[in-house]
Amino acid sequence: MACPLCDGTGWKPVEIDGVQRVARCDCWRAKVGETLMAGAHIPSRYQRCDLEHFHAYNDKLKQALAHASRLCDAFPVVDRGLFLLGPPGVGKTHLAVAVLRHVILKKGARGIFYDTRALLKLIRNTYDPNNRTEERDVLRPVIEAELLVLDDLGAERTTDWVDETLNLIVNTRYSERRVTIFTSNYDLIPDDTDPRSLLFRVGARMLSRLHEMCDFLHIDGADYREMPPNGTVDDLIALWKMGRPKEKPPLPSRSGGPVRAQLREHKERQDGRAELKWTGGKAGS
Ligand SMILES: [Zn+2]
Repeated sequence: MACPLCDGTGWKPVEIDGVQRVARCDCWRAKVGETLMAGAHIPSRYQRCDLEHFHAYNDKLKQALAHASRLCDAFPVVDRGLFLLGPPGVGKTHLAVAVLRHVILKKGARGIFYDTRALLKLIRNTYDPNNRTEERDVLRPVIEAELLVLDDLGAERTTDWVDETLNLIVNTRYSERRVTIFTSNYDLIPDDTDPRSLLFRVGARMLSRLHEMCDFLHIDGADYREMPPNGTVDDLIALWKMGRPKEKPPLPSRSGGPVRAQLREHKERQDGRAELKWTGGKAGS
């Protein structure tokens, strides 16, 4: 059935200062929003996350929500992204996706969500000769998105290839002044031998770049996953007051494995790499 406002043309008549003109119809905006949302890869469990349903029941959560709301309002005139740190289940991904959905639906921005490990796996899969997808087909939308959410940074077992690939993505987005929101379960512990520290997980070079491009926000709160079925914010507050059980630190996994030069070989084979402004060698250094 054609839209009653625009008769399916996507343009609706409007009167501006007594003059009949046309403007983009609401149905057109909704359709564009749907297309952009479909391309954003938001996992189904997060597809309804928004700022209105984010439970900010302590100061850290309130600060994070206020910061995220400011980013939404100012987008695209934003020069820093967000780095959301905190233990698992406190709502970091909820908040990141809420911002992503807001800028897609309200600002018509091209936004994309990736779990860091899933993204790396996708890139790795393109090296399989039977896979018709090229590395650049995966990388380009990630690098060019107006807003990228990279979830769970540091979870991937670190190798030189992982370092190089993530540095390529992060450095290119930085130099192109594109906004990125990261989440991570790791903390700002200034000890590169402590497996709980972000420094240990991503290395000093990446961490210093992240500080240049993001505001770091610590989030703390109850673990959503401990909530009873149909639980409410009161259950979260009760859990929060009980305190979080001490989590075991993750096992060390930073590996000093052999250099994987695959990305570099790709560069020499593909012209597309040049468009991604990768200077070669250690990514963007
Ligand atoms: Zn319409």
